[in-house]
Amino acid sequence: MQALVEFPIKRSYHDAPVLVAVFAHPDDETFSAGGVLAGHALAGWSVKLVCATAGERATNGRGALSDHEFKTLRLHELTMAIEALGVDALFLLDWGDGDIPQRNDQESVAELLKIMKQTAPVVVITFGPDGISGHPDHVALHRLTTEAFRQYARSAHPNDISPQLYYVTASAAIPLCCKDRENTPASLPPTVRMDIQAGWERKRAAMEAYVSQQHILQSLQNNPPGWQSREELFHRAYPPVIEENKKNA
Ligand SMILES: [Zn+2]
Repeated sequence: MQALVEFPIKRSYHDAPVLVAVFAHPDDETFSAGGVLAGHALAGWSVKLVCATAGERATNGRGALSDHEFKTLRLHELTMAIEALGVDALFLLDWGDGDIPQRNDQESVAELLKIMKQTAPVVVITFGPDGISGHPDHVALHRLTTEAFRQYARSAHPNDISPQLYYVTASAAIPLCCKDRENTPASLPPTVRMDIQAGWERKRAAMEAYVSQQHILQSLQNNPPGWQSREELFHRAYPPVIEENKKNA
């Protein structure tokens, strides 16, 4: 399977290259990058997820559940989904659904940086400036993760491999219901196209694990080009992709 960074895969689990995905709510990771997360896990990477909130203020799928019951359900679904994807560690920050922009930025960056230093990722994936949907939590997390990554990249790395930062960008494979917010900041162009055929069945199982959020899956299934797409698109933010013609100019 195609990997974001070519890296020699060793036999020992402890030597596996690490990919850390940083997202805001349960299901963000699956619907925006689930194929790539699963594909890397299948290829022998250690894939870890930072989920900044429990998604406890989602309006859909709440039914008659109390706040506490709904939060428990969201976390149960997240656990099932990451198991399907092959994610081997979850860092649940529980910053409060909807509260990320109001938090102290320095404290948030410090928490993310601590995880990066602890897990030593070769690849970090998060939202781009548009946050896919313009959700304020997504947009804030883009900013915070980028700053934490900038500090992490300046520190020492295992084997002197420079870490790389990728942003998810809108693609056919991302459900239409995630793209309809007004005043969404401009998105960056995709510079990396990832074939997700290898991880597709795992991504599908993860999407189905979000029983309370089936409207998202239905939105994708109702859009044949999206449902049939086996591609997730990314913008490599660091190191920046230099176009061939610019390189040769
Ligand atoms: Zn979200």
